[in-house]
Amino acid sequence: MIKVFSVRLGSTKVPFGQFYGGLDGWRGMQAVYRFATDKKHFIIVPIHAYLIDHPEEGLILVDAGINWQQTHEHGDYYRGIAHYLFDEDEYQLSREEELPAALARLGYRAEDVRKVVATHLHEDHIGGLSYLPNAELVISKDEWTNRHWKLFGFLPMVYQPSLEAARKITTIDYDAGAHQNFAASHDLTADGTVKVLPTPGHTPGHLCVLVQLDGYQLLITGDTLYTLRHLANDDVQAFGAGDWVPNQNASIRQIAELRRRIPELILAPGHDHSDYQFKHLAPGLAKGGLTPEERAAIRAYEETVFTAGGRLHPEAVPRYLPGTGADHVGRVSG
Ligand SMILES: [Zn+2]
Repeated sequence: MIKVFSVRLGSTKVPFGQFYGGLDGWRGMQAVYRFATDKKHFIIVPIHAYLIDHPEEGLILVDAGINWQQTHEHGDYYRGIAHYLFDEDEYQLSREEELPAALARLGYRAEDVRKVVATHLHEDHIGGLSYLPNAELVISKDEWTNRHWKLFGFLPMVYQPSLEAARKITTIDYDAGAHQNFAASHDLTADGTVKVLPTPGHTPGHLCVLVQLDGYQLLITGDTLYTLRHLANDDVQAFGAGDWVPNQNASIRQIAELRRRIPELILAPGHDHSDYQFKHLAPGLAKGGLTPEERAAIRAYEETVFTAGGRLHPEAVPRYLPGTGADHVGRVSG
């Protein structure tokens, strides 16, 4: 039987607007300017990866999180523009949260991970490649083709030293035809239980991974959905810059449609910091899968977040709650 585990690989400090400001001016050059200058509205969000244990195909890790060097030697690790744009304390990672330790707690070894599917090539999704000596990196062809692309001609999408930690890279080109409302898909396993779906927007070739489990399906969304609430993209959007922002909204609408078509679909976001992740998803996925009771509790939770029409209930709209410390780290309501 397939198992899926949620794996917490540290945290990252982001401006509130990066997460939730897309409808509030965090767009285009404004978004980059505000990202670089807004130092008073930070939130700390977790970095989630998901481990699939497939009976025939072994261990597949979806996203690899961050590594020790990125976190604790930030200023030395990052060169060029990345050195100046990101704060020294951008990441947090304890020894217990390092990928090999997190896998060991689940009874697995980093050496045994066969494939890492990166939803996209941002730093907090590929940093952990350096812990995986035997894994092949799988990414979409569009992500690979655009790996040298620079936002506004100067901000690189990919930090090459992190990508270079990959032992072998395979690109996928969605050769398996349509799946549900997606025009194209790719089968990651021969039995069709793990599929890759294209969700461009956050980056040019962002992908999601759909896993068929016992009685339900799990969609690992990467940063197409930072959090569950981002599904309601009429109410809340992440920041965005570059040609792909409209695609991001189209991809989210496709996920919303997929959810309508598959009532037993469960969403597994990349950076959810709410009760959704920590009270519902993570405890269930700490043992490799969700029971019917846990899925029912997730449905009940979703009803407290979304209206029948798929909008956010007013009290579920994320608001920034300032902290009291000098580090300007606050919290998010709801
Ligand atoms: Zn991310």
